[in-house]
Amino acid sequence: MSLSPEQRAEIEAQRATIASTRRTVANGMEAQLYTAHEVLDHGFVRVIDYMGDDAAICQAARVSYGKGTRSVSNDEGLIRYLMRHWHSTPFEMCEVKFHVKLPVFVARQWIRHRTANVNEYSARYSILDREFYIPAPDALAAQSTVNNQGRGALLEGEEAARVLEVLKGDAARCYDNYEAMLSQDGQKGLARELARMNLPANIYTQWYWKVDLHNLFHFLRLRADMHAQYEIRVYAETICRVVADWVPLAYKAFEDYRLGGVALSATGMACIRRMVNGETVTQENSGMSKGEWREFEALLNG
Ligand SMILES: Cc1cc2nc3c(=O)[nH]c(=O)nc-3n(C[C@H](O)[C@H](O)[C@H](O)COP(=O)(O)OP(=O)(O)OC[C@H]3O[C@@H](n4cnc5c(N)ncnc54)[C@H](O)[C@@H]3O)c2cc1C
Repeated sequence: MSLSPEQRAEIEAQRATIASTRRTVANGMEAQLYTAHEVLDHGFVRVIDYMGDDAAICQAARVSYGKGTRSVSNDEGLIRYLMRHWHSTPFEMCEVKFHVKLPVFVARQWIRHRTANVNEYSARYSILDREFYIPAPDALAAQSTVNNQGRGALLEGEEAARVLEVLKGDAARCYDNYEAMLSQDGQKGLARELARMNLPANIYTQWYWKVDLHNLFHFLRLRADMHAQYEIRVYAETICRVVADWVPLAYKAFEDYRLGGVALSATGMACIRRMVNGETVTQENSGMSKGEWREFEALLNG
């Protein structure tokens, strides 16, 4: 379970408090505020605060005095133009702050995105909960034989059972020892900042993560991609749905140009032009390496 009944009650109380404001609000994001979206077995993502909406992007692009919004189609056209031409600073005018609960090994990938502000739960100050990520059967995959950085077929039967037993057993044993080291009857107990070093990377941590929309799109482009590791991708996909509610026009442009779009090399573009002109292009006459050609073909075939 990712949230206790007390935590759920706190969230509901916060959602019930309504403030009046002169600030622009995005109705889709107002509906999202504070709600926890469950991810993996104990994780979640929830929006704590945000600034701006689609109109704020247009307002900044036009450097307007008032709302800066014209018709929706006009704004949509402008947002698509900005996205298409990498005019990215207007997107930086929107900000969002998330509360994320995630396994430590996912956090290690996430924290590589340096253009955000982070404050993590302190395991020097507090005791970590006994919560570990244990993959569901449909995420328990073998090492890929073609991609060193990927997964292959699912583990099944006895092998799956053995792996799950190891994961659960190690997590339980490490946490028992963590607790035992922290305090023992009549002993001082090891400092929390030291006792935590014995915990495995599938234990959950939490942080507040604040980022602007431009850098969030960069994060989502990399982490909602099908090549990203499943355990971070499910967080990115959850955030994608939140962003679609928050800034629907910007998200649509992002989905079209970045998430669903591709960047082609000059060599790739030349091959496409030759194909359009009826020429048979193969790896041998393409000017691409075997790996490049494999990826190029995958792009063309969807
Ligand atoms: C599929 C995949 C596999 C990966 N594998 C590995 C791996 O094996 N090992 C590994 O270490 N990492 C790996 N990474 C992490 C990757 O190298 C990046 O660190 C991570 O994706 C963050 O990207 P970023 O630096 O563009 O993002 P951010 O840190 O958010 O930066 C955004 C942009 O700001 C600019 N920027 C930010 N900081 C600097 C800086 N100090 N100097 C110059 N420009 C800066 C850059 O233009 C950057 O693109 C992997 C990532 C992915 C998606």
